[in-house]
Amino acid sequence: MTQSTVITPTTDQNYLPKLVYKIAMLQPQTHLFEIELTVSNWTKESLDLKMPVWTPGSYLVREYAKQLQYFSAVTDGDDRLATTKIAKHHWQIQTNHHNEITISYRMFANELTVRTNHLDATHGYFNPAALCFFVPGYEHCPIEITIVPPDPSWKITTPLPQISPQTFLAADFDTLVDSPFEIGCQQIYDFTVLDKPHQLVIWGEGNIDPQVAIDDIKKIVEIEAKIFGGLPYEEYIFLLHLSPAGGGGLEHKNCCSLLYPRFSFQAGEKHNRFMQLVAHEFFHLWNVKRIRPAALEKFDYERENYTPSLWFSEGTTSYYDLLIPRWAGIYDEQEFLAELSKEITRFMTTPGRLVQPLSESSFDAWIKLYRPDANSSNSQMSYYLKGEMVTLLLDLLIRDRTQGNKSFDNVLVAMWEQFGKAEIGFTETQLQQIIESIANEDLTDFYDRYIHGVEELPFNDYLAAVGVELKSINTNNVPALGMIVKSEYGKEMIKSVASNSPAQLAGVDPGDELLAVDGFKIGADKLIDRLKSYQVGAKIELTIFHGDRLATVPVILAPSQPDRYQLERIEHPTDLQQQLFKAWVNL
Ligand SMILES: [Zn+2]
Repeated sequence: MTQSTVITPTTDQNYLPKLVYKIAMLQPQTHLFEIELTVSNWTKESLDLKMPVWTPGSYLVREYAKQLQYFSAVTDGDDRLATTKIAKHHWQIQTNHHNEITISYRMFANELTVRTNHLDATHGYFNPAALCFFVPGYEHCPIEITIVPPDPSWKITTPLPQISPQTFLAADFDTLVDSPFEIGCQQIYDFTVLDKPHQLVIWGEGNIDPQVAIDDIKKIVEIEAKIFGGLPYEEYIFLLHLSPAGGGGLEHKNCCSLLYPRFSFQAGEKHNRFMQLVAHEFFHLWNVKRIRPAALEKFDYERENYTPSLWFSEGTTSYYDLLIPRWAGIYDEQEFLAELSKEITRFMTTPGRLVQPLSESSFDAWIKLYRPDANSSNSQMSYYLKGEMVTLLLDLLIRDRTQGNKSFDNVLVAMWEQFGKAEIGFTETQLQQIIESIANEDLTDFYDRYIHGVEELPFNDYLAAVGVELKSINTNNVPALGMIVKSEYGKEMIKSVASNSPAQLAGVDPGDELLAVDGFKIGADKLIDRLKSYQVGAKIELTIFHGDRLATVPVILAPSQPDRYQLERIEHPTDLQQQLFKAWVNL
């Protein structure tokens, strides 16, 4: 170590500090990343460091700094510097005029999701937003990252350019945040699509056949390149974590992180669902990574970034993740209609669709979608699901109004040309104007009813264009209580209670335990059967534990609602309907 030179602060605004991260994991089984950040060429009396509170793509404040331990700062002569904590994610260091400062800290990493960090004896995975500080005012500076694996056999995968075997360079903090790292003995499969190198990188064991997956991934990449007219990257990585349970994905510009249950790759429905996940995250490299709502043009890592347009970023992407595998030939027309029917069923059986407008759902993502509770289905509507439904209607509207000459694909291309290529944020008004210009129609009324309002979506009015009809099915057709009951450890627990349902009007709450109907013990699996012996309007008595109090409450049974919706092609479609249907389910 050499003593650093004491210098006077400069007034030159053009100088750049040098930022170098060293990330080690000496004892990975302890789940602790050991991080050193060296800031050199620093000329100010104090150095501020802030840790993001969220990761782009996942709209919830996650307080990453809560996992931080052992923060300290030293000079290059190893003299400890005074540090002050200014806010939950903000530290300030007094530099004593030293121009090189090294900050050390540890981050606990034991949360295996696509947007958090996970370190154990088998691998390390991190999202830089959840691990690295930024220097306010210097987010544009390049950042060097050196990884020190615990074992020489561990490999490093990241979309960042490599400058030496273990060192990578991020052009700026946004690029760093957009570049997850996988460190370990992951399997790496190289393949080429449209002359560009791609990798499928897999951590964990499972029943995936990499070649089968790659064959279908290639088809998806080709279809999406066809929609947008080429691939806007040099290389792309599909990073797949095989998990004990649970799934998810997080999009990046040149990479995506996928989490999928390890034994869920069988041919058929499970494989199809995986390919929908791939299609979804890959689609995001255009829609939301480059075509960004104005509020996300420049990320504010310190707080919520509010936008009414996530219905387009996520919902439209969800609509296309059903269509693209169909267009790629991964499933047939019938399977596509069955998949879309399932989505419509989920939508139509969510009472919150008539409560929360789509634009508000997007705006409030930060406090609602990622924090569901027992009342969420009554009061909220996911911008993924309703955005998907609204995109379906708009796609059918455009196909109808243009006699099949245009589709929502033209909206995507126009958004890509006007906003995505140059990464200029779009406003909701600009998006509406583009959709209107493609549909050649004023959509103020559509927006008022279905995007800013909560009117029921008139599916059949729009599906008629392609000769398809939505049918509602009432599977059991027994008088309804309006609550969902599940057996849990020998108890019959009430999981949710629908708004204005007989159960809610009788004062039953989610979390109550159901004991008896009309004085006789009842199990969740026998409830429907028992209700068959009553008529709509009948008064029955439910015995419950309401909290810890035993109660018997009278309930008036109501007519049941449809529980399933199914898309069917009409029997005698016109030539135009047939032609538009064919164009819809093929690219
Ligand atoms: Zn998404």
